Amino acid sequence: MRFYDPYRLLSPETHHWLEKEVVRAFGASEIGLRFVSRGGPGVIPATLYPELPDRWDVAPEAIGVAIGVHGGPRSIFLSLGAAERALGLPLAPRGGAPAKAKPPRRRLHGSQTRRLGVALGRVLSHELVHTIAPDCPHTTHGLMAERLSRRMLTAPGIGFDALATRHLRLAAAGMAAREAGGGP
Ligand SMILES: [Zn+2]
Repeated sequence: MRFYDPYRLLSPETHHWLEKEVVRAFGASEIGLRFVSRGGPGVIPATLYPELPDRWDVAPEAIGVAIGVHGGPRSIFLSLGAAERALGLPLAPRGGAPAKAKPPRRRLHGSQTRRLGVALGRVLSHELVHTIAPDCPHTTHGLMAERLSRRMLTAPGIGFDALATRHLRLAAAGMAAREAGGGP
């Protein structure tokens, strides 16, 4: 996967925590997930916006959205503003700033940097499961819950539950079979 931050919203530390959290979430699965520095075939792009565009029909509290999960180009979008509001970080501009406006880089304390990176990493992990295992439903527990509470976004040791893990195993087996068969 390739993470894009075109508005340069994240500090290097927050970006570090984000990647680390995604790698941790998928570490126990058989999905060989890694971050790459350029796009290409099979690379899923994830792009961070200040806010998701108003014209998209998503809930205002939605932090992430995955598109193309049932066909078409696959892509993930994340909202920094929604993540900050979910965490109670008193820094996001209220009332939906235009998606194209570049907000000033905000200064976060060390622990806030980590919380924000972990939360964005968890939402990205959730959307990645929608993308690579589209049959996986929302689950009662774990990172595939329909709505991730503040605790779920930041508490230590939150991962995928047994059902999501089973779907990831199936998806990994499917990918391996496609690679072995040279198919699409
Ligand atoms: Zn979901």
